[in-house]
Amino acid sequence: MSEATSLFRCPVCKKSVDRDNENFPFCSDRCRTTDLGRWAAGDYRIAGEPAHIPNDPDSEL
Ligand SMILES: [Zn+2]
Repeated sequence: MSEATSLFRCPVCKKSVDRDNENFPFCSDRCRTTDLGRWAAGDYRIAGEPAHIPNDPDSEL
């Protein structure tokens, strides 16, 4: 019926990636390297800063 569920998008370039791709979830070795490079460059935030979780207004004690 639908083939949409079989599609996955490369987190780097947003191209659709086939699950059989040897570089899954990336579309290519280049994108995988790019993603690793981002981590190395600190482009992604490192977990450690507290998330801003809003207080639930309905749970005042
Ligand atoms: Zn890609």
